[in-house]
Amino acid sequence: MMTDAFIGLGSNLKEPAAQLARAVSALATLPETVLVAQSPFYASRPVGPQDQPDFVNGAVWLRTSLRPHRLLDELQRIEQKHGRERLRHWGPRTLDLDVLLFGTQVLDDERLTVPHRELANRDFALQPLLDLKADLALPDGTPIAELRNQCPDNGLRKLPPADYP
Ligand code: ATP
Ligand code: CA
Ligand code: CA
Repeated sequence: MMTDAFIGLGSNLKEPAAQLARAVSALATLPETVLVAQSPFYASRPVGPQDQPDFVNGAVWLRTSLRPHRLLDELQRIEQKHGRERLRHWGPRTLDLDVLLFGTQVLDDERLTVPHRELANRDFALQPLLDLKADLALPDGTPIAELRNQCPDNGLRKLPPADYP
């Protein structure tokens, strides 16, 4: 069975837009998975410590028959391949890949919380989801568009396509 999974991408080190573009290519070649669409990229102020570069964020829509934890394994493998260093919590990183939504599944264990725990508070995750699918909703039926309207403003700026490598 194929499930629609939505992955959030973020980077604020070493040419972030290039990191994201490479990550999209890697996601497109995952086993048992097709890339349906990728969102525009956005620049946003960092969450948490402010003494770090702005982030570039985006999202992709995958259709996959991988189980959720197997998909997380693959995301973490791609993060490692991109030389991810995690120096401090919410600190700068070369690549962050989060499972934002996995079909209508609700998961909460020591490795995986889906929908993503902070989704409702993050315009840089909600806006790319809306770009991908305007009528997307949480498993409980709450429209993503409604969350976006209520979300704190994080100074999101859409990057022109020319800024993508
Ligand atoms: P945040 O979760 O606030 O976005 P972060 O992305 O910086 O913070 P990480 O250090 O990348 O956090 O991940 C910490 C752990 O979060 C991972 O090891 C993973 O097991 C767990 N995790 C829980 N839910 C998810 C999810 N939906 N997507 C990705 N990782 C998740
Ligand atoms: Ca994250
Ligand atoms: Ca993460």
